[in-house]
Amino acid sequence: MRIQSNLWGIRSPGERRAAWMVLLGAGLALLILWSAIAGILLRSRHSAIDAERRVLERMSSVVEEQTRNFFSVVDFFLISANRILDSQPIGNPHTDPDLLSLVKTLETQSGGRIGAHILTSDGTFHDLATANKQSIGNIANRDYFGAQSLRSAGGVYIGKPEESSFTGQMVLPIFHADPDARAARNFVVVASIDTQAINTLYESGRTKPSGSIGLVRRDGILLARAPHGESFIGKSIAGGGLWKESLPKAQRGWSILPNTVIDKTSRLTAYAAMDEYPLVVIASSSMDDVLAGWRKLLWGLLVSGTVLSCMTVLGARRLISLLKALAQTRAEVEKQARHDFLTGLPNRRAFHEQLEQEIKRAHRANQSISILFIDLDLFKEINDTLGHDIGDMLLQQAARRISGYVRESDSVARLGGDEFTVILHGVTDPHGVERIAQGILKTLAEPFVLRSETAYVSASIGVALYPQDGTTSEDLIMHADQAMYAAKKEGRNRWTYFAPSMQIRAQQRMRYLNDLHTALAERQFRLVYQPIIDLRSGLARKAEALIRWHHPQRGVISPAEFIPVLEDAGMIAEVGEWVFHEAARQAAEWRRTLHPDFQISINKSPMQFKKGSASANDWMQYLAQLGLPGESMAIEITEGLLLEPGEDVTIKLRHLSDAGMQISLDDFGTGYCSLMYLKRFDIDFIKIDRSFVSALTDGPDGVALCEAIIVMAHKLGLKVVAEGIETAAQRDLLVEMNCDFGQGFLFSRPLGPDEFARLTGQSFQPA
Ligand code: C2E
Ligand code: MG
Ligand code: MG
Repeated sequence: MRIQSNLWGIRSPGERRAAWMVLLGAGLALLILWSAIAGILLRSRHSAIDAERRVLERMSSVVEEQTRNFFSVVDFFLISANRILDSQPIGNPHTDPDLLSLVKTLETQSGGRIGAHILTSDGTFHDLATANKQSIGNIANRDYFGAQSLRSAGGVYIGKPEESSFTGQMVLPIFHADPDARAARNFVVVASIDTQAINTLYESGRTKPSGSIGLVRRDGILLARAPHGESFIGKSIAGGGLWKESLPKAQRGWSILPNTVIDKTSRLTAYAAMDEYPLVVIASSSMDDVLAGWRKLLWGLLVSGTVLSCMTVLGARRLISLLKALAQTRAEVEKQARHDFLTGLPNRRAFHEQLEQEIKRAHRANQSISILFIDLDLFKEINDTLGHDIGDMLLQQAARRISGYVRESDSVARLGGDEFTVILHGVTDPHGVERIAQGILKTLAEPFVLRSETAYVSASIGVALYPQDGTTSEDLIMHADQAMYAAKKEGRNRWTYFAPSMQIRAQQRMRYLNDLHTALAERQFRLVYQPIIDLRSGLARKAEALIRWHHPQRGVISPAEFIPVLEDAGMIAEVGEWVFHEAARQAAEWRRTLHPDFQISINKSPMQFKKGSASANDWMQYLAQLGLPGESMAIEITEGLLLEPGEDVTIKLRHLSDAGMQISLDDFGTGYCSLMYLKRFDIDFIKIDRSFVSALTDGPDGVALCEAIIVMAHKLGLKVVAEGIETAAQRDLLVEMNCDFGQGFLFSRPLGPDEFARLTGQSFQPA
């Protein structure tokens, strides 16, 4: 039972099957082992018994033969004595020479162990050996004159052992009372065998210590036995199994007697009932002796069998526990494969599987599901500014907050990065969803205490409903994602339902992205150049390179539209590289053809300063290949880059200016850049944003602002470029304010390279 419950502890079907196989194998091994042991034991027991049986049978034959001889001697004597006495009246038998010689012969042949005497029916006893004669009273009731049943074929009677009235020894009286002659006879010749003589004979025959040889009258009266003959002689063993079962079946044979009459032990017995005399010879050995060797084997095998069994059981247990450990490891690995390491939440894979299950269940039960797609706002900034460790802590806390907010039955997962999902069961009414989405937004907006830092994040949540917004997990996730994206677009820290229009927008965006992917390869990007005029000399020695996308269907597309998409899709770096190389080539050409100091500025997106993007070194190498100094290029960056600088930004900016490239701060005044920043970084130019220039002609405030910027910049040693000069009035005011450079439609729109080259031959001197 314990093994079974352990077994069921193994959840993986593969390991469970293997564990069952181990159990089965162990069971089979035990079965084979014990069957073999049983087989060996049975066979060896059988052969031990068989060997002893053969010995006993042979022994009983030998003893039978000896006994037969013994009795033949007696028989001969009795027949001969009877014949002599029948032929003459019994006077004094001691004087009959024939009889005396017969007695002599018997004495010699038996070594004096067989006595002979004559009893007459009047009770006179004639001992033939000693010539004693005495009256022993009426003996008509003595055995010698009855016992018909004990007569052998030859007429020999074997009496019951009795104590000799002369010697006091146990003797076996044997006589020959021919029933036909008896009526006429009034005597009986008796030979009495000293039972001790037979006992001694048998004593020398037995082999094993507890072996025995016995002589039993056919009616079961024990006549002699070695050993312990004395104590049992005259007793009946007719109640034993030999008499009851074996002898009725066969005259000779063998048997295992479980409980012998004589010594109450189990004995292997061979017996032979003699044909000539009513006697049975029995040779037996105690089963303890017979099986002594076998018992040793039995114990040996039992011990080895038990040891092997224990080893098998222990081995099987060990194997099963190994399998269990394996199953647990596998379950752990599987769990890890389905869980997000950082937050412990189910991961993307587990979420997909779970959502699929939920959809099936909802489909069957005709229920609805809501999916929340949660994305933390501006989480990247936390990572960049506070480091990944702190970012990880924030994600862990955010996971806890989301899980803590929804019900136990709802499922929260982390898809990766700062994206979380929630499956809400049975909440589809607008109020329910709104309450939960608002609640999550609120809990995430609480400050995050991360070691010594306190961070604030918000989240954007997209909601998609099953079955309204999709019937497959893919559709639902995609639509919840789109809704989240819409929430971000609408200004973040909000939630929104999926609307089919989002789907259309998403598809458009996807097509747009695909088009952008091919644009670079198919050379659909071009650069146009807008001259930057030195307002004092009117000369155009600088130009800003601006990118254009010549879309095969939509015509020329403005960078204001596609640059943010490129940034969002992570494609800006690649395009930015192309811009740099293209502009550098152009600078090299115009330095040759227009002016040796000609400088082209390019716009560099903040994303291009991220880790992994090209280094200043790569750019310098390229310029060197073209034979250009660093000053041939200027880099336009925006204020935002300076506000949240990572180490990368600072280093990359420094490398660029160290290499001689100039740095322009584009769209100045639209951000929140303080003067401090201008000094901290090596900025060469600030470009006053178009909005300030267009405000110049609106009133005194506009003029004051521009003037202040110019004065301040000059004080800091920076040159000023005014962007978006569209009118001569604006230009004149800027010249008056001592602005260094101007750029705008008044001078020129951005132009293709050829047109630019043609135009810049002229001077833009103020009119
Ligand atoms: P920006 O760097 O401030 O570029 C000046 C923008 O003002 C250009 O728009 C230019 O055509 C426009 N402009 C110039 N003079 C006038 C004027 O008198 N009046 C008016 N209304 N506009 C004028 P454009 O070419 O559409 O570029 C828009 C923005 O796209 C650029 O602003 C720049 O931030 C970005 N951009 C352009 N090319 C690239 C590029 O190659 N890489 C990156 N990262 N950004 C680029
Ligand atoms: Mg610019
Ligand atoms: Mg600008």
